[in-house]
Amino acid sequence: MVTKKKFAVPLYWQIMIGMGAGIAAGITALKVDGIPFIRDWIYPWGKLFIVLLQMIAIPLVFVTLVKGVLGLKDISSFSRLGGRAIFLYLATTIIAVMLGLALGLTVKPGNLVNKDKIAHIQEQYKSMTEEKENVAHETSQQGPLRFIEDIIPANIVAAATDNSKMLQVIFFALFFGLAAITIPAEKVKPVAELMNSLNDIILRMVDYIIRFAPYGVAALMAGLVVDYNGEAGIFSALAMYALLVVAALLIMMFVFYPLLIRFFTKITPGHFIKTMFPVQLFAFTTSSSSSTLPVNLHTVEKRLGVSKDTTSFILPVGTTVNMDGTSCYQTIAVLFIAQALGIDLTVEQLLTIIGMTVISSIGTPGIPGGSFVILMIVLTSVGIPADGLALILGIDRPLDMLRTSVNVTGDATVAAIIDNRLKRQPA
Ligand code: ASP
Repeated sequence: MVTKKKFAVPLYWQIMIGMGAGIAAGITALKVDGIPFIRDWIYPWGKLFIVLLQMIAIPLVFVTLVKGVLGLKDISSFSRLGGRAIFLYLATTIIAVMLGLALGLTVKPGNLVNKDKIAHIQEQYKSMTEEKENVAHETSQQGPLRFIEDIIPANIVAAATDNSKMLQVIFFALFFGLAAITIPAEKVKPVAELMNSLNDIILRMVDYIIRFAPYGVAALMAGLVVDYNGEAGIFSALAMYALLVVAALLIMMFVFYPLLIRFFTKITPGHFIKTMFPVQLFAFTTSSSSSTLPVNLHTVEKRLGVSKDTTSFILPVGTTVNMDGTSCYQTIAVLFIAQALGIDLTVEQLLTIIGMTVISSIGTPGIPGGSFVILMIVLTSVGIPADGLALILGIDRPLDMLRTSVNVTGDATVAAIIDNRLKRQPA
């Protein structure tokens, strides 16, 4: 994997420099009419970088999880780890939603939106919201337990061809691994060895892809800066909402997780924050927890000292299932849209928002904008017009970047806490 020794300048510095260079290139292009150049010749390299990460996501999750479960040796270790993980995933998500709720209800950012602007913004994003509305409508027609049905793939090969079906691949991998540990070890030895070799090969592929990160990140940032040109009006109208989401996410990242780390692990909060920084940067630029998984796995294991058994189970599952940043943001977004549209939410509606957000975050794919369809469903479930989503689409990308950083930090925190418990009470 990527180690400091291989680079004269540490990777996170290279990524920072890449971000800075990309932003500078984007701004320059806006000034000198270079937008087509950035769009045609620079941005595609950023997309290529993302595609490479997406390409490796499914094989990485499958092999890491099967290897992780095989490493647990028996069902009781599996259920111990799984039970704790589910508890912590849920607990952190509920706290994130509560934080969003508390901030959204006290600051009331939606009341500050200039009501004249609302119609204009809705018009601008009409086609995009309609598309998401259709998907959300179809999904909400399918009954409350549909999300459980969605976890189980009818065809694993089909599921493995679609990155947004990660949960189905996780289900298959866990089931496969679970079945394998119930069979005598000598019988499954060839598979275990195959998984080990596959894991090494895939991690080497990841290593090569990550070396491309600083350039990919530079190209992505340049493209984003150019794309956001002209959106400044919407930016300022929604500044309060954006600031609130940013504040909530920063509280999660720099107060909530470090406190958990301080009280439930032996790692110092300072070390945790410093160590997680490159992973957060990576999540920030890719806006995808799945794409960040390889870096997170490496950092949490090698630099935070969490055991491989724990990381290879908790992180791949957490990437899709545990989304604290997304949940926190969704709560604020729903409140904001309701306030901006002048809708007063009842306690019952607030409870529905909490429940729906927590449950639906489980199925949110770790991809850019992965939470939009889910947000639509939450909005519809409490009767808020779904086209209100248009209000926040314009500034979603930067917020997506930050919430993805929180999502991956949450996964690392859960892994560190569980590992600490396991080390204190060995099987
Ligand atoms: N981009 C987020 C992630 O990958 C998901 C979302 O909130 O849209 O974690």
